[in-house]
Amino acid sequence: MKAIVSYLKSLFLLELIKGLRVTGGYLFDRKITVQYPDEKTPMSFRFRAHHALRRYANGEERCIACKLCEATCPAMAITIEAAPREDGTRRTTRYDIDFTKCIFCGFCEESCPVDSIVETSFFEYHGEQRGDLLMTKAKLLNMGDKMEAQIAADRAKDAPYR
Ligand code: SF4
Ligand code: SF4
Repeated sequence: MKAIVSYLKSLFLLELIKGLRVTGGYLFDRKITVQYPDEKTPMSFRFRAHHALRRYANGEERCIACKLCEATCPAMAITIEAAPREDGTRRTTRYDIDFTKCIFCGFCEESCPVDSIVETSFFEYHGEQRGDLLMTKAKLLNMGDKMEAQIAADRAKDAPYR
């Protein structure tokens, strides 16, 4: 009996007609495909992408070289070296994040006591050469300088949930 039903289904192209009915049902529906990069979808203020190192308003870097972010990073993507400055404060002499290792979990920013290392919503980056995705302290500070307004706005939105 099963074989006969299967044969009749094949003969009258029932499966094909069922498929076309689904296609036809969506033919005149509102299209949900986004024409990226001309169109963009809304993004959460908690979106985690390219990292940045922030500064205070007076230009001083926030990072105090406590190395909590390095210790907490599950991918071991952060490398920090530190030394005291002439004024006695402690600052990093090297702060690298290897984006080829990073899994964008956000643990580094959660662990930072001074809100220095953060993940911005900037995700449109790429690397073409070896080393392009190794983010040095200079690159991270530069990103922080460029994105500070956005970072501060996103963190203000997030504050009530912390
Ligand atoms: S986001 Fe996660 S994996 Fe990436 S550097 Fe921070 S702690 Fe490490
Ligand atoms: S970024 Fe934050 S957690 Fe990491 S070393 Fe600097 S102060 Fe410490």
